[in-house]
Amino acid sequence: MRIGIYGGTFDPVHRGHTAMLENAVRAAELDRVIVLPDRIPPHKAADKLVRGEDRLNMCRLAFEGFDNVTVSDWEIRQQGKSYSVLTLRHFHEVYPDDRLYFIMGSDMLLSFHKWYLYEEILSLAAIAAVSRCDDDSPRLEAYADSLRAKGAEIIISKAEPFEVSSTDIRQRLTAGGDCTDVMDKKVLEYIKTHKLYK
Ligand code: ATP
Repeated sequence: MRIGIYGGTFDPVHRGHTAMLENAVRAAELDRVIVLPDRIPPHKAADKLVRGEDRLNMCRLAFEGFDNVTVSDWEIRQQGKSYSVLTLRHFHEVYPDDRLYFIMGSDMLLSFHKWYLYEEILSLAAIAAVSRCDDDSPRLEAYADSLRAKGAEIIISKAEPFEVSSTDIRQRLTAGGDCTDVMDKKVLEYIKTHKLYK
Protein backbone atom coordinates (compact mmCIF):
# COMPACT_ATOMS: atom_id res chain seq x y z
CA MET A 1 0.00 0.00 0.00
CA ARG A 2 1.10 3.59 -0.64
CA ILE A 3 0.43 5.72 2.43
CA GLY A 4 0.67 9.52 2.47
CA ILE A 5 1.82 11.23 5.65
CA TYR A 6 0.66 14.83 5.73
CA GLY A 7 1.83 16.93 8.67
CA GLY A 8 1.17 20.60 9.31
CA THR A 9 0.13 23.09 11.90
CA PHE A 10 -3.36 23.46 10.42
CA ASP A 11 -4.03 26.58 12.51
CA PRO A 12 -6.67 26.56 11.04
CA VAL A 13 -7.01 24.00 8.25
CA HIS A 14 -8.16 25.56 4.94
CA ARG A 15 -9.01 24.70 1.32
CA GLY A 16 -5.34 25.08 0.29
CA HIS A 17 -4.58 22.12 2.56
CA THR A 18 -7.41 19.95 1.27
CA ALA A 19 -6.59 20.80 -2.37
CA MET A 20 -2.95 19.96 -1.76
CA LEU A 21 -3.82 16.58 -0.27
CA GLU A 22 -6.03 15.72 -3.27
CA ASN A 23 -3.23 16.71 -5.62
CA ALA A 24 -0.66 14.54 -3.82
CA VAL A 25 -3.05 11.57 -3.79
CA ARG A 26 -3.42 11.79 -7.58
CA ALA A 27 0.25 12.43 -8.32
CA ALA A 28 1.69 9.76 -6.03
CA GLU A 29 -1.26 7.34 -6.50
CA LEU A 30 -1.77 7.06 -2.76
CA ASP A 31 -4.12 4.46 -1.28
CA ARG A 32 -4.63 6.34 1.94
CA VAL A 33 -3.38 9.42 3.81
CA ILE A 34 -2.74 10.10 7.48
CA VAL A 35 -3.11 13.79 8.43
CA LEU A 36 -1.09 14.84 11.47
CA PRO A 37 -1.48 18.20 13.17
CA ASP A 38 1.84 18.90 14.92
CA ARG A 39 2.33 19.68 18.59
CA ILE A 40 5.21 22.14 18.39
CA PRO A 41 6.36 22.85 14.84
CA PRO A 42 10.17 22.97 14.67
CA HIS A 43 10.19 26.13 12.54
CA LYS A 44 7.41 28.27 14.03
CA ALA A 45 6.66 30.11 17.26
CA ALA A 46 4.31 27.77 19.10
CA ASP A 47 3.17 29.98 21.97
CA LYS A 48 0.26 31.47 20.03
CA LEU A 49 -1.03 28.24 18.51
CA VAL A 50 -4.62 27.20 19.05
CA ARG A 51 -4.77 24.05 21.25
CA GLY A 52 -3.81 20.77 19.59
CA GLU A 53 -7.19 19.29 20.43
CA ASP A 54 -8.96 22.09 18.52
CA ARG A 55 -6.65 21.85 15.48
CA LEU A 56 -7.25 18.10 15.50
CA ASN A 57 -11.03 18.50 15.62
CA MET A 58 -10.93 21.08 12.80
CA CYS A 59 -8.91 18.67 10.64
CA ARG A 60 -11.40 15.89 11.38
CA LEU A 61 -14.22 18.13 10.14
CA ALA A 62 -12.35 19.34 7.05
CA PHE A 63 -11.33 15.83 5.93
CA GLU A 64 -14.48 14.02 7.03
CA GLY A 65 -15.83 13.62 3.48
CA PHE A 66 -12.53 12.34 2.07
CA ASP A 67 -12.20 8.63 1.31
CA ASN A 68 -9.21 6.92 2.87
CA VAL A 69 -8.06 9.93 4.90
CA THR A 70 -7.61 9.61 8.65
CA VAL A 71 -6.58 12.31 11.11
CA SER A 72 -4.11 11.15 13.74
CA ASP A 73 -3.40 12.64 17.17
CA TRP A 74 0.02 10.93 17.32
CA GLU A 75 2.16 14.08 17.03
CA ILE A 76 -0.02 16.03 19.42
CA ARG A 77 0.42 13.31 22.06
CA GLN A 78 4.25 13.40 21.83
CA GLN A 79 6.57 15.41 24.07
CA GLY A 80 8.85 18.10 22.66
CA LYS A 81 9.13 19.36 19.11
CA SER A 82 7.35 17.57 16.28
CA TYR A 83 10.32 16.49 14.19
CA SER A 84 9.17 14.72 11.04
CA VAL A 85 11.84 12.05 11.37
CA LEU A 86 10.28 10.85 14.64
CA THR A 87 6.85 10.63 13.05
CA LEU A 88 8.17 8.75 10.04
CA ARG A 89 10.10 6.32 12.27
CA HIS A 90 6.87 5.63 14.13
CA PHE A 91 4.72 5.04 11.04
CA HIS A 92 7.46 3.01 9.39
CA GLU A 93 7.37 0.73 12.41
CA VAL A 94 3.58 0.50 12.32
CA TYR A 95 3.47 -0.15 8.54
CA PRO A 96 6.77 -1.93 7.78
CA ASP A 97 5.49 -3.48 4.53
CA ASP A 98 3.99 -0.31 3.05
CA ARG A 99 5.63 2.61 1.27
CA LEU A 100 5.32 5.99 3.00
CA TYR A 101 5.00 9.24 1.01
CA PHE A 102 5.76 12.35 2.98
CA ILE A 103 3.52 15.11 1.58
CA MET A 104 4.68 18.72 1.63
CA GLY A 105 4.42 22.03 -0.17
CA SER A 106 7.31 22.75 -2.52
CA ASP A 107 8.24 25.78 -0.36
CA MET A 108 9.13 23.30 2.37
CA LEU A 109 11.11 21.02 0.05
CA LEU A 110 13.54 23.76 -0.94
CA SER A 111 15.01 23.92 2.56
CA PHE A 112 14.91 20.18 3.11
CA HIS A 113 18.66 19.80 3.70
CA LYS A 114 18.21 21.89 6.87
CA TRP A 115 15.65 19.53 8.37
CA TYR A 116 16.63 17.48 11.40
CA LEU A 117 18.09 14.13 10.20
CA TYR A 118 16.82 14.73 6.66
CA GLU A 119 18.82 11.84 5.21
CA GLU A 120 17.07 9.45 7.54
CA ILE A 121 13.73 10.94 6.45
CA LEU A 122 14.65 10.09 2.86
CA SER A 123 15.45 6.52 3.84
CA LEU A 124 12.10 6.11 5.59
CA ALA A 125 9.82 7.71 3.01
CA ALA A 126 9.46 9.03 -0.50
CA ILE A 127 8.58 12.71 -0.85
CA ALA A 128 5.42 13.88 -2.59
CA ALA A 129 5.98 17.61 -3.09
CA VAL A 130 3.23 19.81 -4.42
CA SER A 131 4.35 22.96 -6.17
CA ARG A 132 2.30 26.06 -5.44
CA CYS A 133 3.64 28.35 -8.15
CA ASP A 134 5.05 28.09 -11.66
CA ASP A 135 8.29 29.96 -11.25
CA ASP A 136 9.85 27.58 -8.74
CA SER A 137 9.81 24.59 -11.16
CA PRO A 138 13.38 24.65 -12.54
CA ARG A 139 14.83 25.33 -9.08
CA LEU A 140 12.68 22.62 -7.59
CA GLU A 141 13.64 19.99 -10.19
CA ALA A 142 17.35 20.75 -9.75
CA TYR A 143 17.00 20.50 -5.99
CA ALA A 144 14.99 17.25 -6.27
CA ASP A 145 17.71 15.80 -8.52
CA SER A 146 20.33 16.49 -5.87
CA LEU A 147 18.24 14.49 -3.38
CA ARG A 148 17.57 11.74 -5.94
CA ALA A 149 21.34 11.42 -6.34
CA LYS A 150 21.35 10.32 -2.69
CA GLY A 151 18.83 7.58 -3.52
CA ALA A 152 15.67 9.48 -2.57
CA GLU A 153 12.36 9.06 -4.38
CA ILE A 154 10.83 12.48 -5.04
CA ILE A 155 7.54 13.05 -6.84
CA ILE A 156 6.76 16.63 -7.78
CA SER A 157 3.31 17.66 -8.92
CA LYS A 158 1.91 21.02 -9.82
CA ALA A 159 -1.22 22.29 -8.11
CA GLU A 160 -3.48 25.07 -9.25
CA PRO A 161 -2.28 27.91 -7.05
CA PHE A 162 -4.73 28.39 -4.21
CA GLU A 163 -3.54 31.58 -2.65
CA VAL A 164 -4.40 31.31 1.00
CA SER A 165 -2.50 30.68 4.22
CA SER A 166 -3.52 30.07 7.80
CA THR A 167 -1.78 33.33 8.70
CA ASP A 168 -4.11 35.31 6.35
CA ILE A 169 -7.11 33.47 7.72
CA ARG A 170 -6.21 34.14 11.36
CA GLN A 171 -5.90 37.84 10.55
CA ARG A 172 -9.19 37.87 8.69
CA LEU A 173 -11.01 36.01 11.48
CA THR A 174 -9.61 38.27 14.19
CA ALA A 175 -10.81 41.27 12.22
CA GLY A 176 -14.26 39.67 11.93
CA GLY A 177 -13.87 39.08 8.17
CA ASP A 178 -15.50 36.45 5.99
CA CYS A 179 -13.59 33.24 5.16
CA THR A 180 -16.29 31.16 3.49
CA ASP A 181 -14.41 31.25 0.18
CA VAL A 182 -11.33 29.52 1.59
CA MET A 183 -12.64 27.34 4.42
CA ASP A 184 -14.97 24.47 5.11
CA LYS A 185 -18.31 25.55 6.60
CA LYS A 186 -18.12 23.03 9.46
CA VAL A 187 -14.65 24.30 10.43
CA LEU A 188 -15.96 27.86 10.50
CA GLU A 189 -18.86 26.75 12.70
CA TYR A 190 -16.39 25.05 15.05
CA ILE A 191 -14.31 28.23 15.28
CA LYS A 192 -17.42 30.24 16.10
CA THR A 193 -18.70 27.80 18.72
CA HIS A 194 -15.33 27.55 20.46
CA LYS A 195 -14.57 31.28 20.13
CA LEU A 196 -11.16 30.69 18.51
CA TYR A 197 -8.98 33.38 16.88
CA LYS A 198 -10.59 36.21 18.80
P1 ATP B 1 0.84 29.48 8.31
O1 ATP B 1 0.27 30.58 7.48
O2 ATP B 1 0.34 29.46 9.74
O3 ATP B 1 2.35 29.35 8.23
P2 ATP B 1 0.02 27.47 6.30
O4 ATP B 1 -1.28 27.94 5.74
O5 ATP B 1 1.24 27.64 5.45
O6 ATP B 1 0.24 28.08 7.76
P3 ATP B 1 0.72 24.85 7.43
O7 ATP B 1 -0.18 24.16 8.39
O8 ATP B 1 1.98 25.39 7.94
O9 ATP B 1 -0.22 25.96 6.69
O10 ATP B 1 1.00 23.96 6.15
C1 ATP B 1 1.00 22.56 6.09
C2 ATP B 1 1.38 22.16 4.68
O11 ATP B 1 0.40 22.65 3.75
C3 ATP B 1 2.73 22.70 4.20
O12 ATP B 1 3.40 21.65 3.51
C4 ATP B 1 2.36 23.84 3.26
O13 ATP B 1 3.31 23.97 2.22
C5 ATP B 1 1.02 23.37 2.70
N1 ATP B 1 0.13 24.50 2.32
C6 ATP B 1 -0.26 25.52 3.09
N2 ATP B 1 -1.07 26.39 2.43
C7 ATP B 1 -1.20 25.88 1.17
C8 ATP B 1 -1.91 26.32 -0.03
N3 ATP B 1 -2.61 27.44 -0.07
N4 ATP B 1 -1.81 25.55 -1.13
C9 ATP B 1 -1.08 24.41 -1.11
N5 ATP B 1 -0.40 23.95 -0.03
C10 ATP B 1 -0.45 24.66 1.10
